[in-house]
This record gives sequence, C-alpha cells and structure tokens, in this order.
Amino acid sequence: MKKLLLLALVLLLSACAQPEPAQSDLFAMDTIINVKIWGNEAEDALHAVTQKINDSSARFSVTTEGSELYLLNQDGSAALSEDFSSLLAQAVSLSERTGGAFDPTVYPLVRLWGFTAQEYHVPNAYELEQTLQLCGLQKLHLFGANATLGAGAMLDLGAIAKGWTGQHCAELLESYNIDAALLALGGNVQTVGTKPDGSAWVIGIANPETPSEAIATLRFTGSRAVVTSGSYQRYFEEDGIAYHHILNPQSGLPAQSGLLSVTVIADDGTLADALSTALFVMGLDDATAFWRESDDFEAVFITDSGEIFASEGAASLLSDCVFTVIAR
Ligand code: AMP
Ligand code: MG
Repeated sequence: MKKLLLLALVLLLSACAQPEPAQSDLFAMDTIINVKIWGNEAEDALHAVTQKINDSSARFSVTTEGSELYLLNQDGSAALSEDFSSLLAQAVSLSERTGGAFDPTVYPLVRLWGFTAQEYHVPNAYELEQTLQLCGLQKLHLFGANATLGAGAMLDLGAIAKGWTGQHCAELLESYNIDAALLALGGNVQTVGTKPDGSAWVIGIANPETPSEAIATLRFTGSRAVVTSGSYQRYFEEDGIAYHHILNPQSGLPAQSGLLSVTVIADDGTLADALSTALFVMGLDDATAFWRESDDFEAVFITDSGEIFASEGAASLLSDCVFTVIAR
C-alpha cells in the first residue's frame, strides 16, 4: 500500500513538473541571447527562431560590414528589404510620436562618443554642434521601399531592432505547435503563451547599482514584451564622470533625465523597445504625461535617487519592491 502511495505521489509530481524546454544561448545583435521553447515542435521552432535572430543581426547591425544597415549608411541610399522597410517605417512613426526623443538618425553622435567601436571620447562643444547638424529625421527620405540619407547622415537601429526581432520571433512561433517560449535578447524579453504548468512568467527588473541582481519582479501570464533601457547597460568613465549610451538627440549628450532605468511592458515588442529608450530621454514627468496620453504600454521607472514608480497597469504586475503608483 505504502509503495502504491509513493508511486502515485511520484506520478503526480512528475505530471506537475515542468517539461524541459528546448533552449539555446547565442551571441547576436551585440548581446547575449537566450531562447527557451516548450512544446511538441520546440526543436524545430528553436531552429526557426535562431535563424530569424541571425538574419536580424545580419540586417540591422550598424557595425557588421555588408549588413543592410551598414550598406545604407555607407552608400547613402538603398532599396530596402521587406523586413528593413517594416522596421524603418515603425521607427519613423515612433520617432514622430515621441517628439524625437527616440531618433534612429543619432548614429553620427553615437560614433562621435565612440560607443560603436568602444573607443570612447568626450566631444567638445564644436564637435557636438557639427555632429548634431548631421542628425534629425528630416535627413531620412523614404520613397516606397527606397531610402536616401542626407549628406553625412547615418541610421542606428540599436534602440529598436532587438524589440522588433523578439516580436517577429513571437509571430513566427505562431505557426509551430508549441506551448510557450521565452526570448531574452539582452534587456529585451519577449514571452509567448503560457508554460505547460500554467505558472506565471517571472521577469526581474535589474538593480541599476548591481545589474546582476533584480530590484523588482514582474509576474504575468501570456505573450508580452518587457524591455529595459538603463544607463548602467553601457557607459564609460572619464575624469570620474560616467557617460552612458542613451543620448538626448537635442543636445547630443547622454540623457541626464533623473532616471537610471525605464522598463516598458507592451504587446508590441518594437514599440516597447523604442519607447523604453524614448521615456529614458524624456525623464519621469514628461514620460508620465506621455503615458497618460497613450493606451498601448505600461512602464516602471527607477530614478537616480533609487525610487521606483509604476504606471497603474505595471503596478498590478509588480512585486518584491516598494514603489509609487502613477495613476491615469
Ligand atoms: P536601448 O538600449 O534600446 O535604449 O538603445 C540604446 C542604443 O540606441 C544606443 O546604444 C545607441 O546605439 C542608440 N541610441 C542612443 N540614444 C538614442 C536615441 N535617443 N534614440 C534612438 N537611438 C538611440
Ligand atoms: Mg530601446
């Protein structure tokens, strides 16, 4: 009898246990990527997703010689692939919507600061002024599937391409018989479906002071994008001053908006990625006003005094921290 009970317990436990997902780690799009997929066609789906990620890397990398973006920047004009056109159209519309806080034409500034080659340089006022003249959405001309850049203008899709890729991987997974997937592309997380045991996704928000640790946790079920932009993610120090990689397109300087990080939660990964960058540039007050005018995302802000603010919808998903709710 005892043996039977034990067997029943083991069977029950194994029925509840999460089946192992198919998973893969890769380095692409300038970051470490981890993909986990649960379900019958998980291995095939993993293969397809890996291909999509490598394809995005080859298309949207600003530094890879021969990538679609690299050639556009080098030649000043190009006939765009369907994927590139779709991403660029969304980039332009999100740049307009955020009043230029997210600006895909900042690449001359990103290069000036040396963030691309990691040969860092604090520019002087003259260099900044000259380089600012090469930036701005008016330098990008789209005619159907053709793009032309003004003299010296160059695009950087680093603030949006990972979100776009996560979202398009999620769309690709719809044609596979899988239960769930979790894609972590650096600070970009895309969830798909619900894990076989029905448990919630648990996504940590990095502590900007000690990024390998979580300062707060988001819990939810279903498909969503969770994207964090933070000054801790890439920076260099010179003469005791830290200069980070999220630039204010108006001044050309690293955005000093009083925030250490912004996490955006949305159904659309492309939007989440561009907005996390834009809200970081805006700062808490302008970002709050922007959120109140919108209905397609939620956000968690960490200020440079260590306070956490969460928009109403994000607050209902947030735990393991003390925070202030931003009401509608
Ligand atoms: P993210 O980590 O998504 O916030 O994107 C930051 C990256 O996007 C930087 O490393 C730059 O390559 C680029 N970038 C910096 N500032 C901006 C900006 N204001 N708008 C668009 N892209 C930016
Ligand atoms: Mg971004």
